[in-house]
Amino acid sequence: MSKSPASASPTARYRPETRLVHSGSLRSQYGETSEALFLTQGYVYDSAEQCEARFKGEDPGYIYSRYSNPTISMFERRMIELEGAEAGRSTATGMAAVTTAILAPLKAGDHVVASKAMFGSCRYVVEDLLPRYGIASTLVDGLDLDQWKRAMRPNTRSCFLESPTNPTLDVLDIPSIAEIAHQGGARLIVDNVFATPIWQSPLALGADVVVYSATKHIDGQGRCLGGVILSSEAFIAEHIHNFMRQTGPSISPFNAWVLLKGLETLAVRVRAQTETAAKVADMLATHPKISRLLYPGREDHPQAALVKKQMRAGSTLVGFEVKGGKAGAFRFLNGLKISRISNNLGDSKSLVTHPATTTHQRLAPEARAELGISEGFVRFSAGLEHPDDLIEDLHAALERA
Ligand SMILES: *Cc1c(COP(=O)(O)O)cnc(C)c1O
Repeated sequence: MSKSPASASPTARYRPETRLVHSGSLRSQYGETSEALFLTQGYVYDSAEQCEARFKGEDPGYIYSRYSNPTISMFERRMIELEGAEAGRSTATGMAAVTTAILAPLKAGDHVVASKAMFGSCRYVVEDLLPRYGIASTLVDGLDLDQWKRAMRPNTRSCFLESPTNPTLDVLDIPSIAEIAHQGGARLIVDNVFATPIWQSPLALGADVVVYSATKHIDGQGRCLGGVILSSEAFIAEHIHNFMRQTGPSISPFNAWVLLKGLETLAVRVRAQTETAAKVADMLATHPKISRLLYPGREDHPQAALVKKQMRAGSTLVGFEVKGGKAGAFRFLNGLKISRISNNLGDSKSLVTHPATTTHQRLAPEARAELGISEGFVRFSAGLEHPDDLIEDLHAALERA
């Protein structure tokens, strides 16, 4: 909740690129150009009366960095204005953001509906963790609107989805799913990591809450973890503010500062990485050793019409299946010289992942097959290298596959 002085920021009316550089800046008495890093746990007060007033919420200053901090406020305000949200809170990791956004508003007896194609840890929270506390969950094929409708119950409080999905890049119909959720009296929470705030704005599409792992494109340079929850003033005040204050999934001011500086270059990086991903997808589409290609920016993507409706561009990620199963995929991964094997994404360095043995190894083979994660499936995250170098490297490794 923006009780901090950052809420006075006059930059919200600017275009996204300008907001990414200027929103939320709180300049100190020294007039620094770059945002200051307030690496402090707590704050001191001029008098006992001021301290009392601050604890009563009558004085707007800071109390303790588990609650908030000027550097964290700057990062939150920049994200709030970028997304066009009313309020938001940042967290230590993307998973802290997902878990807080899902868990904090619920109680035993509630029910959640979620798309089964999602980041492995998100699926753990919905499928394994919630039921242990008496919160039922139903997983649906996110592409099938009838399944969403049929899964809704009188006690359904939240729907959760990720689009494009990890790792198969399915694109889910956010406006239609938001309508189904709202008709059932539930809220829609969207994990927007794969789309990035540059290419998709879930709140404008009807979602109620957006979560990010800032670890991905927002940092984008492999340095630190972080997360953000963005929503209405009412949702953050009622459900998130106190939960975060008392349970402490708070972000470090240092990491918030790194992410704040990461935002300044986010649009430039995401645009360049998307152009590269599109070139890589076009090359792979005609390669004889590739049996399946999924790229949301191409006409042959299964939900190409929906991509045009709800996204401003494709993706920095490409999904594809290398012929020859796991052995073929491993020969390909081991043959790469520039793109590195990693489970991360959105980095300035191109990264490749084998989901079946890493991010999705926890799932039973049948569950993986249902999601289209075959043994030969590879996820490519385009970095900032020259696209021709990457394409030559991918070509050479495919020769060896
Ligand atoms: C990485 C990721 C997360 C988790 O974020 P962390 O910062 O690693 O905790 C959640 N959702 C998606 C889609 C992700 O890619």
